[in-house]
Amino acid sequence: MKKIVLASGNKGKLAEFAHMLADFNIEVIPQNAFNVSEAVEDGLSFVENAIIKARHAAKATGLPAIADDSGLEVDALQGAPGIYSARYSGADATAKSNYQKLLTTLGQTPAPRTARFQCVLVYMRHALDPTPIICQAAWEGEIAFEAIGEHGHGYDPVFIPRGFRQSAAELTGDEKNQLSHRGKALQLLLEAFRQQGIID
Ligand code: IMP
Repeated sequence: MKKIVLASGNKGKLAEFAHMLADFNIEVIPQNAFNVSEAVEDGLSFVENAIIKARHAAKATGLPAIADDSGLEVDALQGAPGIYSARYSGADATAKSNYQKLLTTLGQTPAPRTARFQCVLVYMRHALDPTPIICQAAWEGEIAFEAIGEHGHGYDPVFIPRGFRQSAAELTGDEKNQLSHRGKALQLLLEAFRQQGIID
């Protein structure tokens, strides 16, 4: 069975990748199973940070590695919070403090307050891989004027996907997986794996 290390300790992400690749005889192992330290994410783009994390995990384990990086871009804020989405409201940020800061910062900025979630997935065959597989997908929508909904995580309660009246936090997990930046990037990664003979 082929082994791939996942450059994340997030249980949700591990389950998602493991589920997707189990049918192809690939075992996905989280980097904390090898005591890999957290990489220093000092890139200035999602792509750079995903490469930094994948390279770090591949180097520490000697295995091929997958990493992802994601965040929210708001047009009225010139793309902020972007790569800083997770820590937008400071070092002790929570999902709620982040989306509250976003609502306060936007204030009465009129609709449409266009925004998108971005997700970049990177696969590196080894730490010095000069041509990593890079898959990128976005989920378009608008920022609401108040938080609503109980599902999901992060900025979901303030994100109204294009074509919807509800927030992403009012969608079921299955609905979100079909539409979301992560769902679409995962499908692109599978396609790239097929094309490159990594899976049949
Ligand atoms: P990470 O790459 O999963 O760590 O995500 C970075 C940050 O982007 C998260 O902490 C969230 O704040 C935000 N984010 C990424 N994807 C989503 C999503 O699907 N819903 C809500 N927030 C998201």
